[in-house]
Amino acid sequence: MSTKTDRIQVLLPLPAGGPYDYRSENLSEQLHMGDYVAVPFANRMEHGVVWAVGGVSNLPDAKIKKITEKLDLPPMGEALRHLIVWLADYTLQPVGGILNLALSVSDVFKPAKGKRKAWVFEKPNPEHAPAVLTPAQASAHKAITETLGTFQTFLLDGVTGSGKTEVYFEAVADVLRAGGQALLLLPEIALTQQMTQRFAERFGVPPVLWHSHLTPAQRRENWLAVQRGEARFVIGARSALFLSFQKLGLIIVDEEHDASYKQDDGITYHARDVAVMRAKLESAPCLLVSATPSVETMVNAQRGKYTPLHLPVRYAGARMPHVQLVDLRVLPPPRQQWLSPPLRDAITKNLTNGEQTLLFLNRRGYAPLILCRACGIRVTCKNCSSWMVLHKSDNSLRCHHCGRKELIPKKCTNCGAEDKFAPSGPGVERVAEEVTALWPATRMAILSSDHEKELAENLQKLADHELDIVVGTQLLAKGHHFPNLTLVGVVDGDLGLQGADPRASERTYQLLHQVSGRAGRAELPGEVFIQSHQPEHPVLQALLRGDRDGFLQMEIAQRQAAGLPPFGRLAAIILAASKEEWLYEVCRDFARSAPQIKGVRILGPAPATLSKLRGQYRMRFIVMVPSQMKLQPMLQAWLRHLPKTRALRVQVDIDPQQFN
Ligand code: ADP
Ligand code: ZN
Repeated sequence: MSTKTDRIQVLLPLPAGGPYDYRSENLSEQLHMGDYVAVPFANRMEHGVVWAVGGVSNLPDAKIKKITEKLDLPPMGEALRHLIVWLADYTLQPVGGILNLALSVSDVFKPAKGKRKAWVFEKPNPEHAPAVLTPAQASAHKAITETLGTFQTFLLDGVTGSGKTEVYFEAVADVLRAGGQALLLLPEIALTQQMTQRFAERFGVPPVLWHSHLTPAQRRENWLAVQRGEARFVIGARSALFLSFQKLGLIIVDEEHDASYKQDDGITYHARDVAVMRAKLESAPCLLVSATPSVETMVNAQRGKYTPLHLPVRYAGARMPHVQLVDLRVLPPPRQQWLSPPLRDAITKNLTNGEQTLLFLNRRGYAPLILCRACGIRVTCKNCSSWMVLHKSDNSLRCHHCGRKELIPKKCTNCGAEDKFAPSGPGVERVAEEVTALWPATRMAILSSDHEKELAENLQKLADHELDIVVGTQLLAKGHHFPNLTLVGVVDGDLGLQGADPRASERTYQLLHQVSGRAGRAELPGEVFIQSHQPEHPVLQALLRGDRDGFLQMEIAQRQAAGLPPFGRLAAIILAASKEEWLYEVCRDFARSAPQIKGVRILGPAPATLSKLRGQYRMRFIVMVPSQMKLQPMLQAWLRHLPKTRALRVQVDIDPQQFN
């Protein structure tokens, strides 16, 4: 294949493929790599990026269309273009699909209709309200500052309330002084509000936001502001990693261990790993921040690949909370209730003292399932292999996987009994009901993603001490700072410990540690009660002793022994189809064509954890290789054996974080 020098390759943000050839002789300006252009494609206009000079298509010139126009925007930088190519190779996805992550903004390329007022993005002022750092904070800050302009990955490891945010804000100030841009990733949109406020207090102006809840106009203007270099500090979700920064000087990944950094649908990527790669390509430092670092990051720090920075104590002498385990086998709550006597007493005392309580239960709705009291059958989703969750707020049954919603059936489909369905087990709504019954005068709210509309308002009320008790899911566990919250009750400490997921222990430890960290962050000391049927479990024992490092070492040793990440590489292949028998057949054939390579282990086919989802049956293969071996070429060769038909859905997940 010879390249045609008078042609230009343009990458379009389409999931289907790579760059396409175009001609440019009609344009008055010279095109450069990264320029945004409008081109005819199929029967419509598309916008894309100049990806290479010189075409590769064998089509004659007459068949090659002309670029319509070059858009009046600064080009996409080289680092981002390389990132896109790297991620396409790593995830085995077409490069156009990855470009789509960077260009999923409507209207940015359309010429302004009428008088579109230019939005003003005020410059944050690094001298507005600088913090006076403690010696430990100052030395962490110094280490980061010294690397500005070069690539290095840091692990900023410090207990909750130790001032990690203060430290990275000062590093942001340095970047701003040098005229650069900085990006802060947060794992949850709900966290942006408090962070926005803190940023504004420190730098005098609000940050620029990037997440899925922006209006189309906000998205467009923010995208353009980043692209023009006017947005100097961006707080964003995962997808902010694909913004076209002009001079990105620092990337911060707060709560780096958080599982929501892994995108599980569509293009499956881990935002932490992409952040490190982008920083490398930008020659900028990357800061991974956590009080409970992930096993992967810890191992990288121990190997010297990442530089650890420690903040060992809470700021201003605030103490770590006192943790107690409540053995539910010995001190159970009354029947059909969920708060044990010691936790009840502690709540009553806390209310009397005028302090706030958080009850944590990572389960939305009223009850995780309902069952027929006559025959014992549980109501499952018609589309999925999951139970229907009872929501009392609108008396519905909902599938948390496909979103299906229905009324509680009157008659049992199994035995025909009428009005016999009863809720089983607690969700946040049910615990809230118990709270209201026990302390009728208390000001209480539920915080979960089902109550999103009131979420911001309730978080503010909590901060302003207009609430006494909140019942919340993991939404509440993260990052928030509430000075008067002194008691945390974990309703079900065993939730998350079961299951075959190799990361179950790690994740439960991180979550419970984080929830505990909500207690007693200011002058008042905190108390944590964890209710459990197995208080002897190593995860709970480590929480009791406050032995994070011991727990991590144990996890690391287990992963090493099992050859699991980061000591081995993992990929999951999920095959899904609506015809069950046919899917099994495809799986059998596919298993037969599996690569026979020394060191490569293939598990499966086995039904995926969710063996049916949205009407599709799902089978899973797991591929394990030693860490020095590359997975992608082998997978690519193997995947060619699958039948090419729309009836089969193939999902390849490199570095799967959980086994769905
Ligand atoms: P982390 O991010 O580690 O949880 P924060 O940065 O939120 O900790 O700090 C906890 C609290 O202590 C915050 O209210 C913060 O403003 C305060 N704080 C921490 N370090 C300092 C400092 N050097 N000067 C003033 N306040 C500080
Ligand atoms: Zn469903």
